[in-house]
Amino acid sequence: MRFASLGSGSRGNATLVSHQKTTLLVDCGFSARETEKRLQRLKINADTLTAIIITHEHSDHINGVRVLARKYKLPVYATVGTANCLAADVMELVTEFSSHQCFTINDIEINPFPVPHDAREPSQFVFNTGEHRLGLLTDVGMSTPVIEQALSGCDALLLEANHDMEMLDNSIYPEHLKYRVAGRLGHLNNVQSSKLLEKIDTSHLQHIIAMHLSEKNNSPNIVAPLFSQALNCDESWVGIANQSTGFDWRELS
Ligand SMILES: [Zn+2]
Ligand SMILES: [Zn+2]
Repeated sequence: MRFASLGSGSRGNATLVSHQKTTLLVDCGFSARETEKRLQRLKINADTLTAIIITHEHSDHINGVRVLARKYKLPVYATVGTANCLAADVMELVTEFSSHQCFTINDIEINPFPVPHDAREPSQFVFNTGEHRLGLLTDVGMSTPVIEQALSGCDALLLEANHDMEMLDNSIYPEHLKYRVAGRLGHLNNVQSSKLLEKIDTSHLQHIIAMHLSEKNNSPNIVAPLFSQALNCDESWVGIANQSTGFDWRELS
């Protein structure tokens, strides 16, 4: 299995997960044209994508879904709650899934799990090839036992580290937005993410990448030491996905 990010953060998210002949685009938060451009950088043509899977309906995750899916006739997978927020003319391409049930798209098994976030029916995923498991968790206000169980024992983790609490507190954000981001249906802060790492089984971990960093209220220089401490690993081993270029292909072996 290999995976990459087209970009990660509140201005757009899209992740690639690929195994054998299957390449999934997880979320499409950039315009279709921008997505095509970013896919090219990762040597992927949009017409070779197998499907788009959506975590939730916030615009930084679905911006380009409609145009890209219709242009390339791509199947779109979403929960009922998420699907209800999509444009009517994309519905013919949509397959609905339950966030409590595994499903398979060609060579990749997808294990969805529900997460607390202020969307209709948000879910995040573990991608399973039988040999390796890749866990994805962003856009979540707090950890839950379901999340911890799902992410335990993964071989790679793409984990939200949205904000530094103090930076958010001191930011120019209006009060209601600070509450939203820090709330239980908002986003994980650096300490919450580190604690999650300490709690789950990370003994198989080959890759850890911090995702969905706030450009205003966080910094890789804060996240990397925290994650390395939580995992007892070298700081240079902690990957950081950024807004403009995400991260390049990584492989599980
Ligand atoms: Zn988001
Ligand atoms: Zn969101």
